[in-house]
Amino acid sequence: MNIKLITGILGAFAVGLRNIFKRRMTLRYPEQKLDIESGYTFDAKSNTGSAGFKGRHILYTDKCTGCSLCAIACENIADCIDMVQVEGSWPTNPKNIMPQIDYGRCVFCGFCVDACPFDCLFMTPEYELSATDKRKLVHTPFQLAVFPEKKGDVQLIPDDGGAHHD
Ligand code: SF4
Ligand code: SF4
Repeated sequence: MNIKLITGILGAFAVGLRNIFKRRMTLRYPEQKLDIESGYTFDAKSNTGSAGFKGRHILYTDKCTGCSLCAIACENIADCIDMVQVEGSWPTNPKNIMPQIDYGRCVFCGFCVDACPFDCLFMTPEYELSATDKRKLVHTPFQLAVFPEKKGDVQLIPDDGGAHHD
């Protein structure tokens, strides 16, 4: 047998043995899901962001003024925010326009969140956004206004080897 093949097989066994008694970092998704505490937010007054997961956005429709700064911020990144007309009466938003996001193009950079001067666009821990029809990846302002359900309950605990979970 080829010597390279033998050393390759032995090397693979050695790696397996080294890790066999370590506690797992990987999850059995989708049966197991991470408990992610919060999404990324940005405080316009202090001009600082807070650490958080960059998942699907949450839009506070009652605070959105329709200024379009989020869409302008996205223009040279993914150009995936369209300002669309919404129904209803919005005292802070005389033009009745709010952002709609195409998650087929969004790169989850969070620049739109940083650009919003009215603290009404943040990100959430929601990462399950796949769809079989790409039109379903376009989330309207009212879809963005719905808080995602909390899904996971597995917590990662940092350790010397990286992290593990129970
Ligand atoms: S997070 Fe998505 S929508 Fe926001 S600026 Fe980045 S690419 Fe655009
Ligand atoms: S989400 Fe913020 S930045 Fe975007 S239109 Fe509304 S107020 Fe302006």
